[in-house]
Amino acid sequence: MTLHPFLRELAAAPDAEAAMPALFIGHGNPMHAIEDTEFSRAWAEAARSLPKPKAILCISAHWETNGTFVTAMEQPRTIHDFRGFPPALFEKRYPAPGSPELARITMQALKEVHAQPDSEWGLDHGAWAVLCQMYPQADVPVVQLSLDQRRAPATHYELGRELRGLRKKGVLLLGSGNLVHNLRAVVWEDTAYDWALEFDAKMKDLILSGDHQAIIDYPKLGRSAQLSVPTLDHYLPLLYVLGAKDQEDTVSFFAEKVTLGSMSMRSVRLG
Ligand code: ZN
Repeated sequence: MTLHPFLRELAAAPDAEAAMPALFIGHGNPMHAIEDTEFSRAWAEAARSLPKPKAILCISAHWETNGTFVTAMEQPRTIHDFRGFPPALFEKRYPAPGSPELARITMQALKEVHAQPDSEWGLDHGAWAVLCQMYPQADVPVVQLSLDQRRAPATHYELGRELRGLRKKGVLLLGSGNLVHNLRAVVWEDTAYDWALEFDAKMKDLILSGDHQAIIDYPKLGRSAQLSVPTLDHYLPLLYVLGAKDQEDTVSFFAEKVTLGSMSMRSVRLG
């Protein structure tokens, strides 16, 4: 296996003084990939404010599996995993390289589960629709980690903890989902339901106070939680990012908005 010089460096290099920040991004609908919106601009700005990562490990809402998998191909394909959008979105490609080396290091870091390499997936829109705005040159290698749908939220959080060390290797951990994501309730307007605003605000407070247990146990937060998180897929990527939090990390937010009635675009930066 041939390695990019900087990736050979990735495995062998001593830990950096400062850990790479970790991000959770609320991705919303895939059109932000090709449109200039307040959200796509916020994602680009977030990338500009970071040191350039050596590689990116993306945990996307859109890759659910039985078991835990890590993309290990040299050149991941762009997956158009949606329907009913204009041809321009289906024509969009994001040609970032993969990183078999980061895949290997990721699998080694995960102790709680036996992660396996994947050669079939690629980059789903949870990854590329955000990354094409953050790193339009597609010059940072990207690896995806799947969500094992059989696992409880607490386990996903624990996997995030196990990945924390990658931040000191210059790897950007990027969770891509939505804190409030109820497609049945979506309206195509820039508006927000009260319950969506309530849950979004609750999550902001819990993230700021560091009460991760309450975030893991979100069903106990009542009706607004049930409506905001009808399925786990878009919520779990946040748990990986919070799990990877260092004690000294600052917490900040961007794209703080609920839109389409039931979609929170709130994005989180640690560090
Ligand atoms: Zn999505």
